[in-house]
Amino acid sequence: MTPTSDRPVLLGLLPNEIATALAHAPFPAYRFKQIAQWIYQKRAASFEAMSNLGLTDRAWLNEHFQVGYQAPAEERVSADGTRKYLFEVGGKATAYVECVYIPEDDRATLCVSSQSGCRMGCQFCATGDHGFNRSLSAAQILSQFYSIPYADKISSFVFMGMGEPFDNTDEVLRALRCLTSDDGFAFSPRRITVSTVGVIPGLKRFLDESECHLAVSLHSPFDQEREKWIPAQKAYPIAEVLKILKDYDFRHQRRLSFEYILFGGQNDSLSHAKALIKLLSVCPGCRVNLILYHPVPGKPFQRPKTEQAFWFRDYLSQNGLFATLRQSRGEDIEAACGLLSKQKKSQA
Ligand code: SF4
Repeated sequence: MTPTSDRPVLLGLLPNEIATALAHAPFPAYRFKQIAQWIYQKRAASFEAMSNLGLTDRAWLNEHFQVGYQAPAEERVSADGTRKYLFEVGGKATAYVECVYIPEDDRATLCVSSQSGCRMGCQFCATGDHGFNRSLSAAQILSQFYSIPYADKISSFVFMGMGEPFDNTDEVLRALRCLTSDDGFAFSPRRITVSTVGVIPGLKRFLDESECHLAVSLHSPFDQEREKWIPAQKAYPIAEVLKILKDYDFRHQRRLSFEYILFGGQNDSLSHAKALIKLLSVCPGCRVNLILYHPVPGKPFQRPKTEQAFWFRDYLSQNGLFATLRQSRGEDIEAACGLLSKQKKSQA
């Protein structure tokens, strides 16, 4: 994913922006549309592959631009079919980001990263442990989808990999525009979910500028406890986040969900369930996605007992808060929620 040179990247630009970037190209303007089609509809890996362009046009493009395709540096495959791809990210010290391909029947979800490392410092998460390296460009975000072998099978995206999307709002919104625009990759925004701990400035822009689904990482209904586990709670209290969400219509088109990782013996009690129901009563129609914690060595959190997790889910659902318990995928290759790392395993 490291740009192979300083030449500007076209992936991540919408067709009208590609036309602007190529304004001084020595070929006719109708070529601009063809180039955009090669990128977004045929996912061409290089200008050489754009066979309806003349050889001299392709040579000129090669000299001045790059497509933005970069093959993953490493692939790991889980026993359950989940695949994790690692990409190099440029910078002074080379770092890495990962995305996770999760197949299910004839569909597949891609969990993408928006940053290498993370600044949010959530106590239960492995991603931020090695610090923050850099925010990804839209091209680097899109390349996670663009360049993996199973891209054709992807039916939905979740921005739940490494990083906080609204700590990189400009590039995340640009990537969403390219994914959903009719002359981009043309995915429905209903197939894309962006997950945040609740960084309010970016959240507001996302709500106004995108129609994609939203997931908010909650993990505790109690302010003090949440702040202990998610330091961003201090700057962006969940009460403020909910106040903003109340003004948006999540009943008809886009979906609002709350991610709730169950930490065994810590946030799976009756008092947590009751407080959760009360807290989220201001967002009618929202759902709670319960996730079993994947233990990270050295962290004071345990996986909950399975029967306790089912009880928690059923209690919420029976009391008017629709809840699901997410199946774990890719745990054997550290692809499960909160386990992604910006270090290459072979070098770690
Ligand atoms: Fe960052 Fe998400 Fe990990 Fe929190 S849970 S540190 S926001 S990657």
